[in-house]
Amino acid sequence: MPSPAPGAVVMDCRGLDALIAALQTEGYTTVGPRLRDDAVVYGEIDSTADLPAGCTDVQAPGHYRLHRDGEPGFFRHTPGADSWKRFFFPPRRQTWALRLDNGVFRPVSGEETVPRYAIIGARACELAAVAVQDRVFGGQPYRDDSYRARRAAAFVVAVHCGQAAATCFCDAMGTGPRCEQGFDLALTELVDDEGHRFLLEAGSARGADLLAALPTRPASAAECRAAAAASERARAGQQRRPAAAELPALLARNPEHPRWSETAERCLACGNCTLACPTCFCSDFEDSADLAGGVAERWQQWSSCFNASFSYTHGGSVRGSTAARYRQWLTHKLSGWVEQFGSSGCVGCGRCITWCPVGIDITEEVAVLAAHDGERATAAADSA
Ligand code: SF4
Ligand code: SF4
Repeated sequence: MPSPAPGAVVMDCRGLDALIAALQTEGYTTVGPRLRDDAVVYGEIDSTADLPAGCTDVQAPGHYRLHRDGEPGFFRHTPGADSWKRFFFPPRRQTWALRLDNGVFRPVSGEETVPRYAIIGARACELAAVAVQDRVFGGQPYRDDSYRARRAAAFVVAVHCGQAAATCFCDAMGTGPRCEQGFDLALTELVDDEGHRFLLEAGSARGADLLAALPTRPASAAECRAAAAASERARAGQQRRPAAAELPALLARNPEHPRWSETAERCLACGNCTLACPTCFCSDFEDSADLAGGVAERWQQWSSCFNASFSYTHGGSVRGSTAARYRQWLTHKLSGWVEQFGSSGCVGCGRCITWCPVGIDITEEVAVLAAHDGERATAAADSA
């Protein structure tokens, strides 16, 4: 397990408050983990007082419980249903509006205001998910300038995980648990006899500049070892270990596997997995006009390949059954995505496992496919 980079420094809780305040002074809206409805979600934070102190969580297929044990620490939870996706790719966004002006529809003027988010507490799998969406929205020829502007304006303070949920599998997917790139600053939370403090590493020049202005001291060799041990604890604690390199070919080989129909008997086609997934990017557009006919608007909103209407083309939906939709999601995520974007669409965060109301587990699904590789249903999944 790699150790912290040379030059790591340490700050205490007042230092972390100073970091948040410095980001606010630079004009950033500081967002991080906080509690809402007995769950950790991401939202605006003013200081460390807003962080989920004394909390951890228990996750399993179809199961999430916040656990308030009162132990010191702000970042002892693992990622919940929320993700950073919605800060860069909002669930609903107006893409244009027209207003009737002397008998002619004219664009409602005004550039989209680009928020400047400083995200605090992004984990390694989440940085990998942001990098996946950067390729989806930032590449050619289909570039999303709104997404790119939000990303370019963001400052990222990452947190190296010190624990894993039962649903995590970032180690198998090669995305964690240590944050290796995509951050301006990365911190490891340390709590021991020496107190509650944070070991920080800079990941960019602007991160280093900010760090230089904050109250820190050089990290000791013991603190660097403790940070490396925290990452090792998060790695060793992972129970799910799908063979990531074999998944693209496995999925591509098994479009007619009987498992698709078996899983579809349980799947509610609710789309929770796609909304919680930090890499899923499907959206729909909706046009509307006011009753007087003077204003027309177009809105983009998150959608899901589990919606029957999502694949609707002239005359009907291409994927008419739940089996076909589940197959589409999993095969695209783990196989087609690699061809399309150069990486898996799964970063191993485990959200789709935890937040599936019937506990369908992506790692169990691929294990069954692998164990019965090449089996074919008597009827294709589309007709299931
Ligand atoms: S498919 Fe599931 S485990 Fe993979 S990134 Fe999406 S939510 Fe996380
Ligand atoms: S796999 Fe689970 S979360 Fe996803 S659509 Fe089916 S029931 Fe909903």
